[in-house]
Amino acid sequence: MELETIQALDQQHFMNVFGQRIPVCFTRGEGVTLYDTKGKPYLDLFAGIAVNALGYNHPVWTREMCSYLTEQVVHTSNIYYVETQAKLAQKLTELTCADRVYFANSGAEANECAIKLAKIYQYKKGRPEKNKVITLCNSFHGRTLATVAATGQPKYQAPYQPLTPGFIHVPLNDFNALEQAADDTVCAVMLEPIQGESGVYPADREYLNKVRALCSQKDMLLIFDEVQTGVGRTGHWYAYQHFGVEPDVFTTAKALGNGIPISACCAKEFAASAFSPGDHGGTFGGNGFACQSGLTVLDCIQKENLLDNARETGAYFKQELEKLAQQTEHISEIRGVGLMLGIQTDCAKVYQTKLFEQGFLVGTAGGNTLRLVPPLIFSKENAKEFLSAFSQIINE
Ligand SMILES: *Cc1c(COP(=O)(O)O)cnc(C)c1O
Repeated sequence: MELETIQALDQQHFMNVFGQRIPVCFTRGEGVTLYDTKGKPYLDLFAGIAVNALGYNHPVWTREMCSYLTEQVVHTSNIYYVETQAKLAQKLTELTCADRVYFANSGAEANECAIKLAKIYQYKKGRPEKNKVITLCNSFHGRTLATVAATGQPKYQAPYQPLTPGFIHVPLNDFNALEQAADDTVCAVMLEPIQGESGVYPADREYLNKVRALCSQKDMLLIFDEVQTGVGRTGHWYAYQHFGVEPDVFTTAKALGNGIPISACCAKEFAASAFSPGDHGGTFGGNGFACQSGLTVLDCIQKENLLDNARETGAYFKQELEKLAQQTEHISEIRGVGLMLGIQTDCAKVYQTKLFEQGFLVGTAGGNTLRLVPPLIFSKENAKEFLSAFSQIINE
């Protein structure tokens, strides 16, 4: 189908929540490269919003998923046992501080699970009044009613009152504000170790350490929303490992399925054990096909040393971007860890459009930041290709 035909169908039949999209439709991909309906190649530094960890048409992933489809069963429901679900749960607990996991389909849903877990944890200790959740200003936790309430950005909340009550927002990296808000009615603190959607803002290590200590002291669960930072993005399986601060609960989604929808809420035993049969559930979460994808993603990251690649290529890329930033007054800061980088600039939209025209895909975040979250197979050569084009654009 031609792009114009697709655009016309979308305009007529799809709810208009995405507005005028970037005018392209990709039909094929290979490695870090996507091809549009006319066959034009694009180097992808966005990975479908930090989702496509293994890039496109990864040989192992494609083979494993195809053979799963022909030899096994996609969905049977959680009434029955599911082999790949049990194996992926085991794998995630081996790689992280979590003892148990629950699978869902989206980041928002995994966060809903984490919030419910924090509430029921206190409820079962006989403290139902300890039910509020502290989150951060400019955070992003999803689009459901509870996660929109958790999200510290009024623009996402205004039309949807009344929101789920009980969320308190405090500024990132301001420990005093958080401590003040943490009275006896608070059951949990939920935060992104690196804020993604609002512009790639990392938390300070010392701040996270203090929040960790406060949560332990006041028996509040510390929940990290690692929906974007997880699955190798920072050069560690999870960003908490980069910061050296363990949460009680963390959520993961985006890159876990390499494009097949799957998310997880992962928790230490003392918290996870608050859930009893019937307390939570879902039809699709953790189906065999999605979990096969999760298993294959984690396996490929391990076998191909993609954590090392994210750390090393990310460090090189960040350093070179910092050099470029010196060449123009339009770039004020480079932020981020591993292959999650933000370029703060007053020309975000202009740069994004020029890069697109030259065959490079990047995202924007927070209005004034370019967000680079390429597949984890992104190489130094790929970085050089981007840097050369970007250098020309900023010096035009
Ligand atoms: C994308 C994102 C979400 C929401 O995930 P969905 O799959 O869109 O529901 C939540 N938290 C963070 C940090 C995210 O980046």
